[in-house]
Amino acid sequence: MMASVLKKNILVAGGAGFVGSHLCEALLGRGHRVICLDSFLTGREANILSLCAHRDFRLVRQDVIDPVILSEPLDQIYNLASPASPPHYQADPVHTMLTNVLGTSNLLKLALSRKARFVQASTSEVYGDPESHPQKEDYVGHVNCTGPRACYDEGKRAAEALCFDYARAGHVDVRVARIFNTYGPRMRPDDGRIVSNMIVQALEDQPMTIYGSGEQTRSFCYVSDLVAGLIALMDAPVAPGSAINLGNPQEFTINELAAMVRDLIPTRARLVHRPLPQDDPRRRRPDINRARTLLNWQPQIALSEGLPRTIDWFAAAQQDMSLPPLPARPAMQFSGLPT
Ligand code: NAD
Ligand code: UDP
Repeated sequence: MMASVLKKNILVAGGAGFVGSHLCEALLGRGHRVICLDSFLTGREANILSLCAHRDFRLVRQDVIDPVILSEPLDQIYNLASPASPPHYQADPVHTMLTNVLGTSNLLKLALSRKARFVQASTSEVYGDPESHPQKEDYVGHVNCTGPRACYDEGKRAAEALCFDYARAGHVDVRVARIFNTYGPRMRPDDGRIVSNMIVQALEDQPMTIYGSGEQTRSFCYVSDLVAGLIALMDAPVAPGSAINLGNPQEFTINELAAMVRDLIPTRARLVHRPLPQDDPRRRRPDINRARTLLNWQPQIALSEGLPRTIDWFAAAQQDMSLPPLPARPAMQFSGLPT
């Protein structure tokens, strides 16, 4: 009786992706029913293969840009549907912008119609190339709205604006997580982000690509910590009323990360420098005092622990990776062109 009262119907948009698949797994593990909605743009069937056999798991293939029509009642919606890696979100920038704006709008409408609680996966990218360090939630950011990252940064900022408009109007109980660089098992080998690139390149004895000087910084959060934070945010009895940073405040230069990977993987790979992408943030570290206070959450897994776990996963999965590697920058598409 108790279990059925607590069992919730939860939609995870983007549930076949890296973070989304871990979130689906954690929610099923807590006894909930999970609907995973995904277009498989960057997600993979392999990520959710083991979940598909679960009686409380259902997969819906669709693009969130299209109206989302589901028959089930819903208690909670997590919106993770968006490519997250710079080369992937820049491959079709118009589609990225529409995914974040129209997709979030469609899911908020669904939340409104079902009286479902809503967690939005926003990003540290809303701070752009920050002039304030570490980044607190009240920092309004420094984003280039016409640059190549704008499709994602401004798309996520517009999505946050939509969320808070719904919340202020009292229509939906919305919570916004600003996620900082997260890594772990199930990242695509061709994801293009720094942790997966360093690991895959080192394992394959391929040149390890450092963009720019490598002195730019990031703060890396292990995926299970992030998932715990997202669930804590959804389950908080009262909506925080503002965005919440979720990330690990331990900050590393890219050179330090490369050195750690090289210490852990015996490799013949050499380090090579490539041009720094336009608008690449120079430093990034979350201030997580709000999450500590309001959610009683903080990361548990240091990079020194999460990195070897991630390397072990990539090493084991290496044989299994039948995907043809994407080019470093996927071919540019443009969804805005008339067909
Ligand atoms: P990911 O690319 O692995 O997962 C995104 C998922 O969304 C994929 O399964 C993809 O197929 C799906 N998707 C993309 N566009 C879609 C669309 N139009 N319709 C339906 N499904 C679509 O990325 P991730 O790292 O797991 O990120 C998940 C979420 O967290 C994203 O919203 C991302 O912006 C956010 N985030 C992630 C990080 C990070 O470091 N991983 C940092 C900041 C924010
Ligand atoms: N980066 C790098 N080599 C790579 C991939 C990324 O030096 O092969 C750098 C990138 O320029 C950025 C940092 O690593 O400064 C983090 O990049 P990532 O794409 O992982 O995430 P984001 O820039 O979105 O934080």
